[in-house]
Order: sequence, then C-alpha cells, then structure tokens
Amino acid sequence: MTTKILMIYTGGTIGMESSANGYTSVPGFESLIRSRLAHSHHALLPEFDMLELNPLIDSANLIPSHWTEMADIIIRKYEDYDGFIVLHGTDTMAYSASMLSFILQGLSKPVIFTGSQIPLSQLRNDALDNLITTLLLATDNSINEVCIYFSGRLLRGNRSSKVKATGLDAFNSPNFPWLGQVGLNVELHSNLFLPQKQPRFLNPEFKKNAVVILPIYPGINGKHVELLSSDPDCKAIILRSYGVGNLPDQNQELIDALKAAAQRGVIFVNNSQCLQAEIFQGQYACSSILNEIGVISGAEMTLEACFCKLHFLLATLTSTAIIKNNFAKSLAGEISR
Ligand code: ASP
Repeated sequence: MTTKILMIYTGGTIGMESSANGYTSVPGFESLIRSRLAHSHHALLPEFDMLELNPLIDSANLIPSHWTEMADIIIRKYEDYDGFIVLHGTDTMAYSASMLSFILQGLSKPVIFTGSQIPLSQLRNDALDNLITTLLLATDNSINEVCIYFSGRLLRGNRSSKVKATGLDAFNSPNFPWLGQVGLNVELHSNLFLPQKQPRFLNPEFKKNAVVILPIYPGINGKHVELLSSDPDCKAIILRSYGVGNLPDQNQELIDALKAAAQRGVIFVNNSQCLQAEIFQGQYACSSILNEIGVISGAEMTLEACFCKLHFLLATLTSTAIIKNNFAKSLAGEISR
C-alpha cells in the first residue's frame, strides 16, 4: 500500500509572495509546491494531498479558534492518511504545535509542522529543503507525536520555541533534546519519541481571552495585575518571572494584587523569562511567597506550552483544583516529571 500524506497550508512565509506591502499569503500554493517538487521526483517521496485554510493567515494573526480549525481537519481525515504536515508561519508555529499536541493526544501517526524563513517563491530559499525532509519524516510510522521540523532539527512541538528572527535555524528546543537531526544522514533519537497510545482527541472551543501573559520587570506596577485579573474573561495569568521563578517580593502592591486575584480564583503560573530554565519556587526567599499564594510552577515548560496547556485545560475542565492538578502532569511530553 502506498503511503499518503495530507499537507495543510495555513499560511505563512513558506507560501508567501512579494507584494507592495511586503510578503503576503496567496491561495493556490499547491501548484508551486508541485512544480518545485517535480524536479525532485524520487521513489522515496510520498504521495500527498493538499488543503488550504480559507482564508490563509499570517501566523501573527493566529487566534485560538484557528487551533480548533486545524485540529478538526486532522481529526476528520485521520483514518485517510499515514501522516500529516502542517505548513505554518514561523511566528506562532510553536504555539500551534503545542496546542495540537494537547488536542491530539495518543497519536499513532506523525503530525509535523514546518515552514520557512524565505518563501518557496524566492530563488534562494530554505523552503524546499524543509518541505522535502518533512515529507520524508511524515512517512515514518515510529513518530507518534506532533513535531516541528526546521533546518535540520526534528523537535517535539510542545518543547519548541522560535529563537531566531532571521537565522534559518529559527527553532530550538531549549529544555529537551532534539528528536532528530538531519545532516548528511537522518539521525532520529527514537528512544525519545512518545510511545503509541490510544487516541484521545479532544478538540474544544477556546475562549479567546482566558489566558494572559505578564512579564515581571524592575518597578512593575501591581495595578497591572489588578487590571488584567479584573477582566471576567481572564481565568489564568502566566507570570514571566526571573531565573528559577523569582519576582520582587518587596513590591507589596504586586504581592497584594496577586493574593487578591488568586483568592478570586484566577490561576497563576510561574514561567521563567530565561529560555533555558526550570522553575524552583522557594529556592530563593523572594519566590517563597508564591507558594503561599498558590502560584503553580511551569517547571521546564516553554511559554508556548504553558499558554496552550492552560487554554486547553480551561476549555476542557471546570474545576480549578483539577485544572491545577493536571497542569503539573505531562499530557504530551511537554514536561519531564
Ligand atoms: N509572519 C510570518 C508568519 O508567521 C512569518 C513566517 O512565516 O516566518 O506567518
């Protein structure tokens, strides 16, 4: 039986064309892909069908309902294909890959996100190589998870972040090893892959403003916490703390605002501003107050994984205690313990 892949183009640089206002997504990317791949015709290259979101999005315009739309396509077509590729803009690819890993738990086929820093329509580009390698990886039935493939790196989706704005090696996985690297050879670290489990797909409707991100900075005004948490739509706030989870505990206004909001039921998650980090709340005296307030640890999760996991849990569970409990557990390999 021939292997068949579904490629979903959501928008993003890979399929963009130049316009008077800069790069923009244009429908009909399939014909350009097929014409470029015609030159790379090879027995190893799998057959694929292609779908496009309508309208296409620059991923800077991504909103939570787009996750439901992308996941819905994969769930509907799940039995018809051996693997899935999501062509996505790089700006928010790590968010979408994280969210799809939570929606599509227990995958038994690869779902691989890719894109590029330079459009396929340009003479010099990184798109063709990312496309061809992702097509080959999407045929590998030992991959049972949502990944990002970009510039020689196969990364777990919910461990990935965009780390470079202009470099072609735009993505990395700061707190987890790469699942594979592609150079002269394709080297996959299958010992790191998620085991195959029973599919448990839950594709909820997300509430747009339920999760808010607040960076901590010198002199932060506690009124910002008051303001954000008084929005009835705001159910959770991610505090982007310093280092291992520190924040200014001598800023009484901030601490009082955190306490008051937590008492009103707002969930606070501690996530470090450092790219490579793990949270140890209470390692320093300045962060021990957070344990008292009931702030939960983001452990070594990326910001994107924290944000999407909170959205996912808020959309699928109702009890705050259960949400907090589940947040500490690994749903799709986003956390090691
Ligand atoms: N703004 C583009 C997007 O995220 C950037 C890219 O694809 O690299 O859709």
